[in-house]
Amino acid sequence: MSKPIVAIVGRPNVGKSTLFNALAGKKISIVKDTPGVTRDRIHADVDWLDHKFTMIDTGGIEPDSNDIILSQMREQAQIAIDTADVIIFMTDVKQGLVDSDAKVADMLRRSHKPVILVVNKVDNFNKMMADVYEFYNLGIGDPVPISASQRSGLGDMLDKVVNYFADLNLEQEEDERPRIAIVGKPNVGKSSIINKITGESRVIVSNIAGTTRDAIDTDVKWNGKDYVFIDTAGLRRKSKVKEEIEKYSIIRTVTAVERADVVIIVIDAVEGVTEQDAKIAGIAHENGKGIIIAVNKWDAIEKNDKTVYEYTNKVRDILSFMPYAEIMFISAKTGQRLPKLFDMIDFVIANHAMRIETGVVNEIMAEAVALQQPPSDKGKRLKLYYITQVSVKPPTFVIFVNDKQLMHFSYTRYIENKIREAFGFKGTPLRFIIRERK
Ligand code: GDP
Ligand code: GDP
Repeated sequence: MSKPIVAIVGRPNVGKSTLFNALAGKKISIVKDTPGVTRDRIHADVDWLDHKFTMIDTGGIEPDSNDIILSQMREQAQIAIDTADVIIFMTDVKQGLVDSDAKVADMLRRSHKPVILVVNKVDNFNKMMADVYEFYNLGIGDPVPISASQRSGLGDMLDKVVNYFADLNLEQEEDERPRIAIVGKPNVGKSSIINKITGESRVIVSNIAGTTRDAIDTDVKWNGKDYVFIDTAGLRRKSKVKEEIEKYSIIRTVTAVERADVVIIVIDAVEGVTEQDAKIAGIAHENGKGIIIAVNKWDAIEKNDKTVYEYTNKVRDILSFMPYAEIMFISAKTGQRLPKLFDMIDFVIANHAMRIETGVVNEIMAEAVALQQPPSDKGKRLKLYYITQVSVKPPTFVIFVNDKQLMHFSYTRYIENKIREAFGFKGTPLRFIIRERK
């Protein structure tokens, strides 16, 4: 099931990043070797009681003059309306109620999205509550006082946020069709791929407006099978500022990846693979989705007998955290290898949902341990007792050991490699949870 998305909107300096860091700080990532993505302040995974959601910060680009604050805020609010299930609108009790707050509140009210009005910097609840009441004038409900820097009021605020989740129709419960997200930097050819696919699928294509996020999903029938391609149309924004373009593409990626089973990461063959591609790919990897790397515009480059080899090396080098993903060289323009892309999608879907019997995976682990002795430290040697697969999408294994400290990342990776040698699992990340048993 996809996680709800919560966006924070608010003027500069009201305390958005402070709140973001307070909530995101709890996250412990299982995957350690992904580039920058998890550390930027654009998105974070939050766990609150039994609820998990993805938070996005729509602010962050400092406007260079007061005149453009309002237009920036409108832009932020629009992104939140387009992508989020619940919006946190943050104001500042010290600055008080300002004109642009009222304008943004109007926009949010008209969107009919769930909005939680948060008043930050209420560092002293007893003394400052009188100043909070003023914010009722915005007409978007009860103001929730918090102090992001002191981390007070956050529990009440989060209760309100998760209360809205119950009303959300987080779709696809009964919908068995695989969901495919096509992600990548601007201009790599994402829309061209969707257009080519829908043009060639020789079946009527319907655009259904997404239930909660105004996303546009495209139904595709290929070889008699149904697929849903995910597209977050609301985020096709024009901007001249490079950081803004990158930011939109990250937010767009997060929201599309969240809802997908398989993610196709599109790279521009003409431009070559870049760090920005790695950031985008890292989002899919961290989310545990099935992954295919598609190098597009393959028609547009000059080739000799070494070209594929050279491109493969470059992609493997920059996207070194996902050696499990297959690389395909395609062209949206000519349609080259698009049928193969569907074969690959089917293959990755199957691997992403594959279950291995406990007996069989224990045999593989025992063989691996016999072949390479587990590490030891200060006279104590790591013992691996038992392994079992606890879930799919992505396949997740629990390994019981005598001492967690001894289970180095490199030995976990060794076990992972042995499991991959035995069962394939092409195109899907694997997760390992290490538990102690005395
Ligand atoms: P953003 O521009 O909305 O992301 O705001 P920041 O999170 O960068 O915060 C702006 C300033 O407000 C910083 O100096 C923070 O330390 C301060 N700030 C944030 N939260 C609080 C709070 O709860 N109380 C007080 N007194 N200051 C805060
Ligand atoms: P998006 O921003 O990722 O959706 O990229 P578009 O689909 O809008 O494509 C950006 C540009 O690249 C357009 O001018 C396309 O015509 C061009 N383009 C897309 N795919 C291919 C391809 O396979 N080969 C070539 N030569 N050009 C392509």
